Amino acid sequence: KNVVLSDLEKVSLLGAGSGGKVYKVRHRWTGKEYALKIIQAKHEVMVRRQIMREMEILQISKSPHLVECYGVFDRGGEISFVLEYMDGGTLADVLKYHKKIGERYLAEVTKQVLLGLLYLHKHKIVHRDIKPSNLLLNRKQEVKIADFGVSTVLANTLAQCNSFVGTCAYMSPERFDPDGNGGEYGYAADIWSLGLTLLECAIGRFPCLQPGEKPDWPTLMYAICLGEPPAPPSDASPEFRDFIILCLQKESARRPSAEMLLSHPFVRKYEGQPGVISALLQGLVL
Ligand code: ADP
Ligand code: MG
Repeated sequence: KNVVLSDLEKVSLLGAGSGGKVYKVRHRWTGKEYALKIIQAKHEVMVRRQIMREMEILQISKSPHLVECYGVFDRGGEISFVLEYMDGGTLADVLKYHKKIGERYLAEVTKQVLLGLLYLHKHKIVHRDIKPSNLLLNRKQEVKIADFGVSTVLANTLAQCNSFVGTCAYMSPERFDPDGNGGEYGYAADIWSLGLTLLECAIGRFPCLQPGEKPDWPTLMYAICLGEPPAPPSDASPEFRDFIILCLQKESARRPSAEMLLSHPFVRKYEGQPGVISALLQGLVL
């Protein structure tokens, strides 16, 4: 089970995020494919040690709805993660290809992401970076949360809304509050980000901003904290509308938990319809 870094050969570049690059790699002897995420290290030794320690804990936590981590390596400050390779790419890729995603597909995505969040929250982990590019799909009909913990760990040591944590666009209103209890917000932040992600998929654009508006920090903070929560489109089903409105309540205490949302009528509406994830991946060339 333990993968050694020197046994992995690079196949191609899968993508580059704010923190580093992700390669598709193949194991020399088993032929098995992995995703190798390499984070450029500007961290001090103590910070890196903390990241490694927390990552080791996270490696133990396993769920079918979290991208599995097979190992973490620190080579002179460059930190690499050996991750389960997800051959369907991200929800962001799927959205870019289809422009909009229908409710019956979103219901299945929602169910699987909620199961992942339920697992994290039960283990007292807040993801803090739920967004389309952190939700990965595969041809086995699975949807999994990626980057769990990484963002949490890094956010402890770096400013909250900087290049490392990635975009602050999906941050819930309470996270913008400088007088709030400094990062000690709860699980409800992930529920907000999920709601926003689903709404973006349904309408085909980022919901909080007008088309053309720059997604910089002041604009986002103004829109998310002072504006009304973004509303579902008028042509959405009553179940989807209700689900989105519940997730996007500005008062975090009012948002339902992942567990409560799993029995929401929107999630249950399309239950027992197999094959929706592979239908979503049809025609997608990554
Ligand atoms: P971000 O989340 O900011 O987009 P990441 O560094 O997490 O940046 O990932 C960059 C890209 O690499 C993703 O958008 C995705 O296309 C790809 N990727 C990341 N992890 C995996 C994985 N486990 N399997 C397949 N592709 C991945
Ligand atoms: Mg990511």
